[in-house]
Amino acid sequence: MTTGTRAARLFGDHFLERLQPGEQATVQQVRDLCRDTLGPQADAVSREDLFAWDTFRTLAREGVIATAFPREYGGTDARQALRIRLIEELGRVCSTSASMITGTDLSSRAIVAGASEALRREIVPGLCTGELQAAFALTEPGAGSDVRGLSTTIRRDGGRYLVTGRKKFITRASTADWFAVVGRAEDDPSVFIAVLMPRDARGFRIGAEVGKLGWFGVPISSLEFDAVEVPASHRLGAEGDGFSLAQDALLRARIGHAAMALGRAIGAVEIASRYASDRTVFGRREGEHQGVQWMLADMVTQIEASRALLALTADKYDAGASDVSIFASMAKLQATDLCMKVVTDALQLTGGRGYLRDFPLERFFRDAKLNQIGEGASEVHKTVIGRDVMRRAPLAERNPCLRDGPLTDY
Ligand SMILES: Cc1cc2nc3c(=O)[nH]c(=O)nc-3n(C[C@H](O)[C@H](O)[C@H](O)COP(=O)(O)OP(=O)(O)OC[C@H]3O[C@@H](n4cnc5c(N)ncnc54)[C@H](O)[C@@H]3O)c2cc1C
Repeated sequence: MTTGTRAARLFGDHFLERLQPGEQATVQQVRDLCRDTLGPQADAVSREDLFAWDTFRTLAREGVIATAFPREYGGTDARQALRIRLIEELGRVCSTSASMITGTDLSSRAIVAGASEALRREIVPGLCTGELQAAFALTEPGAGSDVRGLSTTIRRDGGRYLVTGRKKFITRASTADWFAVVGRAEDDPSVFIAVLMPRDARGFRIGAEVGKLGWFGVPISSLEFDAVEVPASHRLGAEGDGFSLAQDALLRARIGHAAMALGRAIGAVEIASRYASDRTVFGRREGEHQGVQWMLADMVTQIEASRALLALTADKYDAGASDVSIFASMAKLQATDLCMKVVTDALQLTGGRGYLRDFPLERFFRDAKLNQIGEGASEVHKTVIGRDVMRRAPLAERNPCLRDGPLTDY
């Protein structure tokens, strides 16, 4: 079917109208890729948790990986307003494909933001084309949600650093050429340092891949550093920048998680509503029962509201707004919790078929969970958002309905 005659989508293209013509063409390119290749292959990709090289190379060849990188190093410097649309398209059919884009942000951002010009020139062009890969190593056995528990130490020793410690759950560990590793200065634990370590560094051990529930195609492993030597020129940013470089990478990845979750939620509603249209129960199409319509109505309404929040967040990112981080927390919290609920309800609406391995919702269901955990669990984002409210509330403009004085005087 050609573009001109293609049926309208269940979820409208209203957000596309906000993009420039060149950006719209990129979205169309990714849609075609999803329709012709990534969608039909998604089930096969999700059967084994081996790095999905075909998917990665396809996205690299099509220039989608390069959207994460600045132009001067071979990237396309795409706005977040565009990237959320691309990730949503990919998430609608294949979480593995979407995670190739969010994972590129997570693993490469600290290099783009913190590496010396010489290192950037050496590495980033290869990251754009997919000839090279990076991994981002922050999480440790004793430090996940709470990075204050980091115990990897980085000791300055003349013109080099010595890195000692362990990392856990590191995506792309089995395929990355370079590892952005965050630790603490050995002589001052309040100082976070990030360094870039090559895969073949002496004393660096990459553990076996670890089995997981979903997100197949992007395996994870543990890392061990035994006084691994890294030249001082491989430090990312200044000493003390490790934490902010990590936050910067996580910010982009959070926006990506939200987009991926929304894409998956959209896909789930498309599938469930089509089923409700095809299936007859108790003498009527399943979707003619009011209870089913109300479920679909909740799903669609909340998805559109979440898309609007995410679009606003992307705009704030592109504009460099100071509150983008809180908006990213809200968008991720909202979209990923919603996705889990939508996928669960969509599976319910498709009955026993939804539970079958060859029906896509089984995969969507397994993949949805990680979005609520990775890049900050939902509870952590709630804590961050709630704290921000309490910080601003006493300083905010007083509601005009109130009398003067403390509210406890009422
Ligand atoms: C598939 C996968 C890929 C990953 N890839 C990477 C990677 O590439 N690089 C990397 O560095 N890390 C990676 N991670 C790690 C990921 O970011 C962490 O799993 C995540 O940050 C949560 O940390 P944790 O697993 O240690 O959970 P914990 O810190 O043990 O938290 C467990 C749970 O406690 C609750 N909780 C935590 N804090 C609070 C709070 N303040 N209030 C209320 N409840 C709370 C939440 O429900 C949370 O889920 C990956 C993880 C997975 C599973």
